[in-house]
This record gives sequence, structure tokens and C-alpha cells, in this order.
Amino acid sequence: EEREALARWTGPAATADGVPVKLLANVADAESARKAAEAPVEGVGLFRTELSFLSTKDEPTAEQQADVYAGVLTPFAAASGDEGRYVVVRTLDAGSDKPIAYATKDHEENPALGVRGLRLSFDNPGLLDRQLDGIQQAASATGVETWVMAPMVATVAEAQAFAEQVRERGLKPGVMVEIPSAAILAHQLLEVVDFLSIGTNDLTQYTMAADRMATDLTHLTDAWQPAVLHLIAITAEAGKQAGKPVGVCGEAAADPLLAPALVGMGITSLSMATAAVRPVGARLGQVTMDACEDAAEAALAAPDPTSAREAVRKVLGL
Ligand code: PEP
Ligand code: MG
Repeated sequence: EEREALARWTGPAATADGVPVKLLANVADAESARKAAEAPVEGVGLFRTELSFLSTKDEPTAEQQADVYAGVLTPFAAASGDEGRYVVVRTLDAGSDKPIAYATKDHEENPALGVRGLRLSFDNPGLLDRQLDGIQQAASATGVETWVMAPMVATVAEAQAFAEQVRERGLKPGVMVEIPSAAILAHQLLEVVDFLSIGTNDLTQYTMAADRMATDLTHLTDAWQPAVLHLIAITAEAGKQAGKPVGVCGEAAADPLLAPALVGMGITSLSMATAAVRPVGARLGQVTMDACEDAAEAALAAPDPTSAREAVRKVLGL
């Protein structure tokens, strides 16, 4: 039955009783964006811009950056497909596991807790200005609806300052929820930005104080950890109350067992590697919104990841 559902599923995604869920793609470059545009997705939920500059020595000009961004936006231009698709561009998440020659500091004692992501613009505001100029140029050249989000946001003031700069350029601002402080203050963040996107990879790392790359800590770096699920639920609930979109763009979004529980919490979009779209879409089509809500409740009540998975399987009859 599972296999048949997968074969039948063509998108757009919705629960069995017709509640729409946006499925989006995570992309790294123009090539992966072209592939994503052919999949049944409503756009890009995470364009990791830093991946385009990992081996770039000097900072590219806004115009040079605009060319790179336009390469990712172009496949989603209305002329080449359906209307209404959009691309979420994430500003540079340089630092820690993704050092960039022209942006990141050397010799940090603890780079995962150091000057990374949005923090790079605190003492180098031009870096963010030029990136936003490049994004604005690409958005207007391609005509694609472009949302812009910042990584590694810890405070409401950071979100507010970022949102102002994005709005000045006529674009839609949001922030990632990757730090527990952001999840706890989701309600206040949504007073200053238009959307939130939960990065479960880092949110798990920072909630569990366990390096996401540490192979001997995988029992902790698991988004099914109930503490992580509770932070996701707080964030989703804030979105429901504000009437603003809250998505998940970390690995957790690609898990066909977790996806119904996320939707049941109130998550409105799931962004994942293109290859994961069909299994997640097919699964959502098999479950009602009521079942998703029961799955969310069951997962949140579990004391550990194993029982959370078991509880969700049971609720969904899997
Ligand atoms: C995340 O942290 O979940 C995320 C989507 O960002 P990245 O994996 O690029 O750190
Ligand atoms: Mg991250």
C-alpha cells in the first residue's frame, strides 16, 4: 500500500482530508535548483548561499553575487512553470563547519558558539548590505517572489534590524529558529518578521549541547528528542497565533514519520532535499489532520526518541 501511494502521489501536498502543506526544496546551486523546479514543490525553502562561496577568496561584488542568486531563482520564474512559487534565500551562514575566507574569523576557541551566520554582520555590516543588494538585484531581474532569512538569530533585536534591511529592499524577511532562545521567543520574533523557518539540525545541536558532527553522540543529535520537539511545538504554536508561516528546513522535515507530527503541531511548510519530497508527500496524503494532531500529542508526551517514534507509528497505524 505504501509503495502504491508513493507511485500515485503527484502533489501538491495535502493531508488525506485536504489540508494543504507546502513542500519546498533545499538547494545549493543553480543545478540543484533546476532539478528541484521539476519536482512537485512549491518553491525553495532553503537556498544555502554560503555553499556557493566556500572556495572564494575575496568577497564578490553585489553584482557578482546577483548572478549566482539569479541562477537559483530563474528555474522558479513564472514563465517556466506554475505561478506562485517562491524562493527563500538564506543569507550567509558562514563560520563553524562552513568557513568562508572573506567572511569568517580564524582561531575561534569554539566556532559553533562563535561569530557565525548573522553575527558576522555585527562588525561588518557591509557584508550583509552587499549580499542583500545582490539578492534584490536577482529578485527584480528574475521576477521571482523572494523571501530572505537570516541564520543563527538569537535575539528579537537581531531579527528586527535584519527585517528592516530586508524590507527596505522590497523583500519579505524571516529568521531561522536554530537557537533555543529563538524558539522560546518565537511569539515576539513573529511581531517583527513575516515568517520563521526551523533549522532542526542546529536547533537539536544547541538544545542538546551535542555537536551535530559527533558520530558518538547520535542518540542526542536526534530531532525526535522530546525537548527539541517541544521547542518546535512552541514555535509552530506562535505561528498559528500570529497567522504567519512557520516551516521546518532541517533534516527532520525529510522524515516521513515525523512530518505528520510536525504538521499536527502547526508547521505550514516542510523543506527538504528534492529526493525526499515524494515519500513525505505520499505519507501526508495518507493521514488526516486529526491523526497528525494526535501524532504530535503522542510524540510530545514521550520521554525519549524511541518511544516517540513508537507512539507516532501506533497513532498513524504504521
Ligand atoms: C539547520 O541547522 O537545520 C539548517 C537547515 O541549516 P544548516 O544545516 O545549513 O546549518
Ligand atoms: Mg543551521
